[in-house]
Amino acid sequence: FDDYPSLAKLAVVCTISGGCYVAYADANGTGVAPPVLEEIKKKKVVVLGTGWAGTSFLKKLNNPSYDVQVISPRNYFAFTPLLPSVTCGTVEARSIVEPIRSIVKKKSIDISFWEAECFKIEAENKKVHCRPNSESSKNGKEEFVVDYDYLIIAMGARPNTFNTPGVVENCNFLKEVEDAQQIRQSVINSFEKASLPTFSDEERKRILHFVVVGGGPTGVEFAAELHDFVNEDLVKLYPAAKDFVKITLLEASDHILNVFDKRITAFAEEKFQRDGIDVKLGSMVVKVSDKEISTKVRGNDGEITTIPYGMVVWSTGNGTHPVIKDFMQQIGQEDIAAIFKKADKDNSGTLTVKEFREVIKDICERYPQVELYLKNKKMRDIVDLLKMAKGDVAKEAIELNIEEFKKALSEVDSQMKNLPATAQVAAQQGTYLANCFNRMEEAEKNPEGPIRFREEGRHRFHPFRYKHFGQFAPLGGEQTAAQLPGDWVSIGQSSQWLWYSVYASKLVSWRTRVLVISDWTRRFVFGRDSSGI
Ligand code: FAD
Repeated sequence: FDDYPSLAKLAVVCTISGGCYVAYADANGTGVAPPVLEEIKKKKVVVLGTGWAGTSFLKKLNNPSYDVQVISPRNYFAFTPLLPSVTCGTVEARSIVEPIRSIVKKKSIDISFWEAECFKIEAENKKVHCRPNSESSKNGKEEFVVDYDYLIIAMGARPNTFNTPGVVENCNFLKEVEDAQQIRQSVINSFEKASLPTFSDEERKRILHFVVVGGGPTGVEFAAELHDFVNEDLVKLYPAAKDFVKITLLEASDHILNVFDKRITAFAEEKFQRDGIDVKLGSMVVKVSDKEISTKVRGNDGEITTIPYGMVVWSTGNGTHPVIKDFMQQIGQEDIAAIFKKADKDNSGTLTVKEFREVIKDICERYPQVELYLKNKKMRDIVDLLKMAKGDVAKEAIELNIEEFKKALSEVDSQMKNLPATAQVAAQQGTYLANCFNRMEEAEKNPEGPIRFREEGRHRFHPFRYKHFGQFAPLGGEQTAAQLPGDWVSIGQSSQWLWYSVYASKLVSWRTRVLVISDWTRRFVFGRDSSGI
């Protein structure tokens, strides 16, 4: 309109191929030859997953020059830090989820959503293969293919079973909202079952033996929640069950909560001991059958101990999604050490310019931080030389000492790999990526970086930097351990109130905030609901 003020009407026709044509009409609505017929082709951004990374990407993205398609088997975002509270009815499942459509509805950019799971990524042809959720498709198997220009993989991780026999068949996981609901149902079913007159006391003991495998933050928080649920609510309703209930926490290493400060670990172990939660350290689970769990206890000459159980919750960390494994193989994603191993064939510690250049190119493309790092480390000359080196120059085999270079790279590599698998990291990565997209055009126009984005190394985007805001470990009985930046540790009721305030503020919408706070209030007044519905 600014360019053609005489044209009163304007029609925008979108084609199904994604192109967008602007056609012009005069004041009577009659079509006229356009002064310029432009095709504005939006780049397609496909986002896989509606978890922490995917959702924070969508929330932060505000560049309208992309056509964004979101694909995820669940049509909501779940606030995972409150999943352990859902397992015992402290908080209702509905209170911690927000429909993804209501998140994207607030955005003024083109975002569409498909409830489906991606089962294959074709990296070379830039396609993702998807299948709808069986419930949302007619016969559960119409597959479809989506093209992309940019692919955001935010599919999260899978529970890691370490291929332990019987785990998938007999254990509960705690990863999704459905898992938490399933656990809640199973706990209450166990109490109902143990109350039936048909069982012996021995059987009742087994049914009411709850085993948690994994002493990380999730396993510990679940064990603490379960302990509170049993002691504050269930034993009042099932008084006869009191003498039979037992909670066991199995941990393969020497301590629980290894990622926390030693003071927190020690406090948690002591508190669990006081609470009667049996923490078995150095116990590696080797097999799970339908009624027994077998462990190898360290220092016991490899002897296998078998424990009868009623319910097991498996929480031993994350494994890579098979789709991502396959994708990484396709794009040849290996770690830096593996690349060097390949390039450093004769182990002489020297590389030809050509080999060195390939290694650098490969690494810099993958990790922009490495390029910055090298430049800061005064290796700029080498990097620049290698970047310029083409054809003839590269043929010259000169010797380069790569030891220092390898050391520097492995530092960067471990720094990147050592980011914890937390919501905090995922959310910050999603936000970082959205910011990159928001300034993509500007960065492409000014590859050296516009002045205000300039940083050391003048890369076109700032490198990702994780900012740690601290972490919590709720330990039950209104006691929480908090480890805040600067290794500031606080344990007790005050940290519990800090936990309430931080989590309430981090919830994704006012609706979920109100629901969660009212769930907490309901729990204080009436206790947890033990109907399991
Ligand atoms: P997720 O949040 O897991 O999201 C993955 C998304 O991908 C989901 O929407 C999923 O449906 C989708 N998806 C899966 N498969 C496919 C597919 N084939 N195709 C398309 N989409 C797919 N972190 C903290 O910082 N603090 C905490 O207190 C905390 N507590 C936790 C408690 C529990 C019980 C759990 C399980 C985790 C907790 N975490 C916590 C860790 C945190 O939840 C994860 O680190 C975080 O969810 C990772 O985010 P993500 O976006 O990578 O993956």
